[in-house]
Amino acid sequence: MEQIPHSDALPSGTGVTSNPKQAIQHLTARTAEIGGGITVARLLPSRQRRMIGAWCFLDHAGPAVFAPGGGLRVGPHPHTGLQTFTWMLAGEVLHRDSLGHEQMIRPGQVNLMTAGYGIAHTEESPASETRAHAAQLWIALPAGHTDIAPAFDHYPELPRWQENHCQFTLLAGMYCGKIAPANIYSPLLGMDLLSAHGAELTLPLDPTFEYGVLPLEGRADVAGMALAVDELAYLPSGYDALHLKLAAGTRALLIGGEPFADQVTLWWNFVGRDRAYIAQAQRDWAAKSPRFGEVKGFDGPRLTAPELP
Ligand code: MN
Repeated sequence: MEQIPHSDALPSGTGVTSNPKQAIQHLTARTAEIGGGITVARLLPSRQRRMIGAWCFLDHAGPAVFAPGGGLRVGPHPHTGLQTFTWMLAGEVLHRDSLGHEQMIRPGQVNLMTAGYGIAHTEESPASETRAHAAQLWIALPAGHTDIAPAFDHYPELPRWQENHCQFTLLAGMYCGKIAPANIYSPLLGMDLLSAHGAELTLPLDPTFEYGVLPLEGRADVAGMALAVDELAYLPSGYDALHLKLAAGTRALLIGGEPFADQVTLWWNFVGRDRAYIAQAQRDWAAKSPRFGEVKGFDGPRLTAPELP
């Protein structure tokens, strides 16, 4: 562990080169069922932390193994005010949406669905599939963009490079001069780090960003904080470097962004500015409004929103 000269005001053992105001936080996941015997570890939102930059939802799904015909089978459901961001690690999942897109996502690829004013979609494992492992995140749309037209983008090719025994894949945003193709509306970062034999890295950070590091496989050490799978280290803004150790066989997700300035209400699959917006979205979905359209080709019932408290 690198020791960096620091004043007494700094949290001990953090190994940072900037002058952060706050210590790194350790967050644990809660588990949720998404059907098909697939368990997800949910890191965001949590009691301790609602968002990291514009990232407002983070599920680590699987790794799950199932018999052919099993797996993911999420019926038609709506979204508003957000982008869903899928980073596939193992297995394939078929996406269909109310704009008419039908897209298989494969390991190493990103799907980005912009809900904006409203969209509906389904996600299912193909009949022959026996595995599922993915990170699914939501990105809150900033004020002025919450009600944009819906869209769907598939990114089969991403910036990927090797450095210090670690394979970097840039999922979203910019990093060290590289630019990910994902069409986003806030300053943010998503990056996958994979090390077969272990790595020790000092990653430059943007001090205006807050960050989260989450091992998806293996284990990591973030500035002296040990992390197992589904344990997230949260770094408040102010850090300009991150000292990171990855054990052999570790895959970790690094997300970050400018602390989100706008009010965000999250309920079921909706993001909106307030309760009235969410309530209207609920009514529109229940009424089968053209706001969300119809997903064609999925054999199964549409999902029903739970009642607002
Ligand atoms: Mn969805």
